[in-house]
Amino acid sequence: MAENNDLMEKIVSLCKRRGFVFPGSEIYGGLANSYEYGPAGVELKKNIIDAWWQTFVRSRPDMVGLDSSIILHPKTWVASGHVANLADAMVECKNCHTRTRADHLIEEALPEMKVEGKSEAELDAVIQKHKIKCPNCGKFDWTPVRKFNLLFETHVGIVPEAQSLVYLRGETAQGIFLSFKNILDSTRVKLPFGVGQVGKSFRNEITKGNFIFRTLEFEQAEIEYFFDPEAVKWEDLFEDWKKQMWKFITAALGIKEENLRWREHGNEERSFYSKRTEDLEYNFPFGFKELWGLAYRTDYDLKQHSQFSGMELVYTDPHTNRRFIPHVIEPAVGINRLMAMVLLDSYREEVDRVYLALPPRLAPYKVAVFPLLANKPLLVEKAKEIYNSLSPHFNVAWDDRGNVGKRYYSQDEIGTPFCITVDFDTIEKDGSVTVRDRDTKEQPRVKVEELKNYLANKII
Ligand code: ATP
Repeated sequence: MAENNDLMEKIVSLCKRRGFVFPGSEIYGGLANSYEYGPAGVELKKNIIDAWWQTFVRSRPDMVGLDSSIILHPKTWVASGHVANLADAMVECKNCHTRTRADHLIEEALPEMKVEGKSEAELDAVIQKHKIKCPNCGKFDWTPVRKFNLLFETHVGIVPEAQSLVYLRGETAQGIFLSFKNILDSTRVKLPFGVGQVGKSFRNEITKGNFIFRTLEFEQAEIEYFFDPEAVKWEDLFEDWKKQMWKFITAALGIKEENLRWREHGNEERSFYSKRTEDLEYNFPFGFKELWGLAYRTDYDLKQHSQFSGMELVYTDPHTNRRFIPHVIEPAVGINRLMAMVLLDSYREEVDRVYLALPPRLAPYKVAVFPLLANKPLLVEKAKEIYNSLSPHFNVAWDDRGNVGKRYYSQDEIGTPFCITVDFDTIEKDGSVTVRDRDTKEQPRVKVEELKNYLANKII
């Protein structure tokens, strides 16, 4: 366990030092559960999103994309059940006023205890029975457990009396249901088909966030996969989605299989509208935790929105003219959790270096270009020429500080798979450069005119 905490600390420190993730609003003393994605982090996050979009939207004829609003009509969240149900059970320490989620408090004090699905009264009873103390001040003096809604509220309109209450979306999925009819009317999709969306969601999380695992705002990549329950067995679709999710995590993101597992929600934990929910979990340093949820939500959401909006959200079978509300399977993942996992899983330490063994497709920079010596104009000019010829094709880093050893060290730490060095032989002898491989440290010489193809074959 100490080793695991150690790994988390190393990742948090590397992320700050090398520009992946900075603490949120740091110059004002910080804002809990919020982070900034720095120059390397924004590239890594974008590459994860692109891999997801390419796999699940662009390379499938049965999928389309959507970008819906963060602020939706407030009835959306009443219809979906979020206003009533997106709530955590919370307690406050009367002594030091620390607020914490009751389930997390119990899980930390009694790791064997199953708390999923327990009511407020049951959580209260456990805290009282085991006299669980405040992790901050050590006192045992809690308020009763009470529900706390996670939706952020704001107002539309500038004149106070005419303002109306709206919510920042708590998940991206509801926007898909709201656009369901427009997607049917504007495209040639037919069942079964899915709609994929990536975007920010917001939840007023009061708990300790574990770095970017749980934050106030986060990016979700969600799919609603619509189907006719009379034509397709939902159990088969569900199993098929499990396979696709597993493949994406292991093949596209390069995660070790032994760090992954499926966990099915029991009856108490599962949302009332879901017939089956399973979480794909990753072995984070703080234990196996949800990465990606898969739920069979039946026709619950479309039915609710039909009822609340008065608009019929139905599909007409083109062969039989049967009109019905499709059912959905929903794979929903947080991009920030994927990013935390990718960083943790790719971290490597050797005697003389630290490196991120990122799949080249995900690495912030695919290649770095160096002149051997920064004070030799001929070398700098040739290296710039190579930089300019590669940058339309790859994200290329430039470094002419320090010596080559330090530059390798620095690129290894951000996971750059290849480093090109222009030396005197490049200009005087062979028209070739050394291309150093991050993982093997081998340094073959490659002709300058072959560089683009050489790299393209390795960066897939
Ligand atoms: P948890 O139980 O961890 O709070 P959840 O079951 O509430 O998660 P969902 O509503 O199923 O999460 O959301 C789908 C995905 O969105 C989750 O699997 C997770 O990857 C991501 N996610 C949810 N809440 C957060 C958050 N506060 N910060 C970062 N990612 C989040």
